[in-house]
Amino acid sequence: MDNKQQQVAVPKRETIEDKYKWDLTNFFTDDGAWEAQYDEVKQLLPKIDTYIGSLNHSIDSLVEFLTMREKIMIGTGQLYTYSKMKWDENTKGLKYRGLFDRAQHLSTEVETKFSFVEPEILEHFEQIESFISQSNELKKYQRYFDKIKNHRQHILSDKEEAIISEASALFQGPENIFSVLSDSDIEFPIVKDENGNERKLSHGRFIQFLESYDQRVRKDAFQAMYTTYSKYINTFATIINAHLKTDVFTARVRKYDNSLQAALKPNEIPVEVYTNLISTINESLPVLHKYLSLRKQQLKLDELHMYDLYVPMVPNVQFSISYEQACEYMEQAFRPLGNEYISIIQKAFQERWIDVYENEGKTSGAYSWGTHNTPPYILLNYQENINSVFTLAHELGHSLHSYYSKQEQPFATSEYVIFVAEVASTVNETLLFHYLFQKTEDKKLKAYLVNHYLEGFRTTIFRQTLFAEFEKVIHEALEQGDALTSEDLSEIYYKINQSFYGAVVIVDKDIALEWARIPHFYYNFYVYQYATGYSAATALARKILQDGDEAVKKYLEFLSSGSSKDPIELLKVAGIDMTSAEPIKAAIKEFDMYTDILANLLKDIENEL
Ligand SMILES: [Zn+2]
Repeated sequence: MDNKQQQVAVPKRETIEDKYKWDLTNFFTDDGAWEAQYDEVKQLLPKIDTYIGSLNHSIDSLVEFLTMREKIMIGTGQLYTYSKMKWDENTKGLKYRGLFDRAQHLSTEVETKFSFVEPEILEHFEQIESFISQSNELKKYQRYFDKIKNHRQHILSDKEEAIISEASALFQGPENIFSVLSDSDIEFPIVKDENGNERKLSHGRFIQFLESYDQRVRKDAFQAMYTTYSKYINTFATIINAHLKTDVFTARVRKYDNSLQAALKPNEIPVEVYTNLISTINESLPVLHKYLSLRKQQLKLDELHMYDLYVPMVPNVQFSISYEQACEYMEQAFRPLGNEYISIIQKAFQERWIDVYENEGKTSGAYSWGTHNTPPYILLNYQENINSVFTLAHELGHSLHSYYSKQEQPFATSEYVIFVAEVASTVNETLLFHYLFQKTEDKKLKAYLVNHYLEGFRTTIFRQTLFAEFEKVIHEALEQGDALTSEDLSEIYYKINQSFYGAVVIVDKDIALEWARIPHFYYNFYVYQYATGYSAATALARKILQDGDEAVKKYLEFLSSGSSKDPIELLKVAGIDMTSAEPIKAAIKEFDMYTDILANLLKDIENEL
């Protein structure tokens, strides 16, 4: 945020016109209705205990139980989501914070009450499986039972499960220690900006410094960041080792082959999806190098350093886009998805699913969220710039995915899983890019858009795969028995960076320490899904634009499928096979093609000057 923006006061929520605020009356007409529902759920809770030990008694009692469970879960979800969304409107307000606290407690209570269900189903699995095959009403729970079945061999005895669940709070330790150290204890130094003003470095400002057109600023920020991390590097290494040990422990006690399989199998993702991604991207690195060479040439640098990767290649392009204009773009950009899709988008605008502008106390960022019987709402902090327009497209992707799935699926299979979660949002961003690219005449704007598009590939497909490779290597190292020192970690990390960037970029020594500040390395095999989701979405958008109706039909079927199949099968519905390298190769091809387009645009601009 620059000084000018800081001077403009953020408006109070009351001063914003209603049409720019979401209408949450679909949840509750007023807070009294919230209280009534809270009481209703509370009263149902004691009933849960009466079903313990009875799930295998008869089809009818099982149906009755699952129906009640659904009612409680939907009710609790509504209480939780509504109070959080109201609190997000103004995080300084105490009233909805209070409601949210109560909803959170209620959710935990509900979860604990239902914790007997899975062990009991497992105990009487054959009996319950035969109930499902005999009853139409139980059919919608087939996926739920299948997942338990597939997981069966990794579930331990009651006593062991109880110990693991008692201990699971300890497993959060490394992640929590990391975030306290990295977010609050670490003190960052001052960096001088382009105008010589002293500004304190922070996680949020780091990327702003790296986007500076002044290489001195980028270099100073880069060095300041890693000099700071180097002071604590042994502590970070100890934290990562503790995290890796919990992963290895979980994998061993649950009888998985290794920690990668332990992370992927519960989500029904074959390990080949992960290894395919890494090998395909490694084979495609010359395409990344071509893009980086263009970047080096365009920035007129003798040496391209690790701190030169984020600055836009086309400087001084100003887009100012009002929210109304952005909404019009959406209606145009998503035309390829057909009339029905557009009509739902219009409904989102007209029926006030979207909370558009920033106001005093409003939570930052953007999300799409709702419950089974409310619209999929969107929170934005809309600024009149190109990023906000892409964010709107992104969140509308999530919302329409939710909308279609909730429309077509019973509650049991209406929520989509993480592996496919970023597909619809990225498809929308890609369609928006193609639309804006087509309609923009100005070559500089066009080049700016293409650069923005290509950066999406670089930071999502290439960078996240680099992360995924690092995670795989360090887990394997620990599984072979050795604790990793900070030097080991830095050496492994540097080597992977060298192979990704070394052909074009000066891989500065300090980048070896970057592992220490990446939060995802303290969780578990998560980031690969950004790369796979992005690849799937790119391949899908291509199909939609090239094949038209046939591809659209399949895509909408995918959006309507929720979690009714495993994630790999779901994407096959849309014509994408993530167990093959094809979607990743298709994404790389797109990246390569637009790198050439950018090179030509930049040449034309240069010649016109
Ligand atoms: Zn998203």
